[in-house]
Amino acid sequence: EGQRTAAEVVRALDAMAELMREQEDELGRMDSVAGDGDHGRGMTRGSGAAAEAARDIAAQGVGPAAVLVAAGDAWAAKAGGTSGVLWGAALRSFGDLLPDDRPAVGADLVAGAEAALAAVRRLGRAEPGDKTLVDALQPFTAELRAAVGDGGAEAWRRAAQVATKAAADTADLRPRTGRARPLAERSVGTPDPGATSLALALTRIGELLGE
Ligand code: ADP
Ligand code: MG
Ligand code: MG
Repeated sequence: EGQRTAAEVVRALDAMAELMREQEDELGRMDSVAGDGDHGRGMTRGSGAAAEAARDIAAQGVGPAAVLVAAGDAWAAKAGGTSGVLWGAALRSFGDLLPDDRPAVGADLVAGAEAALAAVRRLGRAEPGDKTLVDALQPFTAELRAAVGDGGAEAWRRAAQVATKAAADTADLRPRTGRARPLAERSVGTPDPGATSLALALTRIGELLGE
């Protein structure tokens, strides 16, 4: 059972890596408005390394938790940048909460998402409204918990819609942390790149869940 879920995790990471390659230029442009322009590159490298590491370790017959932990480590090591460290920790923390001996259910997804949010907040210390990926991850997690009674896959898709809207709404904010802070005024009108890529990834995963 764990191996089936592990294979789904590999598939989700492959899909995410493909999506980031497609979005690389656009995310880079978004990050160059007030940041250093490397967000697309970082997400492509991180997700690509994560997918590769996941495939390698899944071939050894381990469960989904071990796959996500290895993926998170590879992401953090290869992506570079703030978002790489945070994504790596988020994947690790999510993975730690996945069961190895039964299929993951909605409650596991909620626990995983909450653990990922906690890890991101502990490491990055960003508050909601600081114009970071927390502004998409926090509403995602809250909606996932609220909607999980409708089933994990459906709740994830609803939560991803909330995250997409929340990421777009960061356009109105001024960055209060991270590399974009010195040019905060310039960033008004452009959504936060990290919140945007996160919402894209969550949406793509939602399409795969329960297929
Ligand atoms: P870097 O800023 O090191 O070049 P990236 O460009 O890959 O890294 O990622 C930038 C994104 O990282 C931002 O758009 C924001 O979403 C996110 N980010 C930056 N600092 C923080 C933080 N302290 N907490 C959460 N997310 C953050
Ligand atoms: Mg950057
Ligand atoms: Mg950088």
